[in-house]
Amino acid sequence: MFADRAAIYVKSGKGGDGHVSFRREKYVPNGGPDGGDGGKGGDVIFVVDEGLNTLTDFRHIRKYQAQNGEDGGKKNCRGKNGEDILIKVPEGTVIKEAESGKVIVDMSGDNKQVVLLKGGRGGNGNQHYATSTMQVPRYAQPGQPAKELNLILELKVIADVGLVGFPNVGKSTFLARVTNARPKIANYHFTTLNPNLGVVDLNDGTGFVIADIPGLIEGASEGIGLGHEFLRHIERTKILIHMVDAAGSEGRDPIADIYAIDKELKAYNPEIADRPQIIAANKTDLIYHAEDDIIGKLRAEFEPKNIPVYPISAVSGDGVTELLYQVKNMLATLDEKPVVFEPEFFPETMMADENEPYTVVYDEEKEEYVIEGPRIEKMLGYTNLESEKGFTFFQKFLKDSGILKELESLGIQEGDTVRMYGLSFDYYK
Ligand code: GDP
Ligand code: MG
Repeated sequence: MFADRAAIYVKSGKGGDGHVSFRREKYVPNGGPDGGDGGKGGDVIFVVDEGLNTLTDFRHIRKYQAQNGEDGGKKNCRGKNGEDILIKVPEGTVIKEAESGKVIVDMSGDNKQVVLLKGGRGGNGNQHYATSTMQVPRYAQPGQPAKELNLILELKVIADVGLVGFPNVGKSTFLARVTNARPKIANYHFTTLNPNLGVVDLNDGTGFVIADIPGLIEGASEGIGLGHEFLRHIERTKILIHMVDAAGSEGRDPIADIYAIDKELKAYNPEIADRPQIIAANKTDLIYHAEDDIIGKLRAEFEPKNIPVYPISAVSGDGVTELLYQVKNMLATLDEKPVVFEPEFFPETMMADENEPYTVVYDEEKEEYVIEGPRIEKMLGYTNLESEKGFTFFQKFLKDSGILKELESLGIQEGDTVRMYGLSFDYYK
């Protein structure tokens, strides 16, 4: 099978809650607030372990959870931070969000260690909420909730060479002959449902990886059939081998087939079609009508376009070595760039916390009240505060959302400054 794959569940640690308590001293009836802060929840961290080369471990253990932060205690006792969970994966593991299939991070190249989910922030103890007018704050901030995600891990092996062609032209047979892979071979379409990968070992100590990309049929670029997923794998290959049935044993026209497949590739990603290509004209052992000269026709059509044609027989092995050395030579002229998938899913922003749409805190240094959070950002995004209508809406929002109440419980006074992202204003009742 092409990719070692595993489905796992990860969860970060919840932040510990802030504590509400008051000093108790002899002879002091009402001590000040001394509720400690909650500890931070542990992060979910992925690290590359060079010693690993499969995802087998993840078939046995599917749940990974970081520790919760401890709640704050009395006497200003800060809760302990929860321990992070470190998940070791082989280099080249692509981490995807399970539902959407979108890439969160590709553990390749410089991505040796990545914090996938942050633990929740610990809540402030009530000692933070004492002000000159609010001496007995009975409020402490709850810790941020944990975050959880279902993930798919995929170990991608980057193939140097992609093998494309219509069903039954002999791709699997070729792969089985030249590599260590043992794909299914049969005379019906779509036998191969997974891209098969195999390593070609040339006798001179060099080698390369070939991927048999099955199911590439007309319409694949539009996501019809199985093609789309497989086209993704081609994206990372450096050279394409177009395989055709030169004997036309199923009544196909090899030249038309190559153009049809090219069209699919181009529609999917024009860059793929620019990659160096080689034509493997297979099943030459079945060519009985030499006068057709299909090899000559293929050469006349494609060699002027810099696409060499190699007649082979995947069954007898004729011509196969020449083809492999040609591939090797072409690869040697290309520069080696590691392929790293771009992130498409961003847990921290895409899972904006619904339990905590905003936070209200007092910034002691600047002596300002600070309101932040996804809900605030959104609201500011669609409100025009310059207009009277917008401003009234904004005031109503502050009231309805409970922000005003929270500001008051923090002890806000007339004329104090409130800051929201770029926006500052003075507070008046
Ligand atoms: P794929 O769908 O492209 O992977 O094609 P397969 O490798 O499954 O081959 C389809 C059929 O063609 C099988 O029956 C193979 O035995 C046959 N075949 C593949 N290569 C050759 C060849 O070079 N010569 C002959 N005579 N048959 C071949
Ligand atoms: Mg096949």
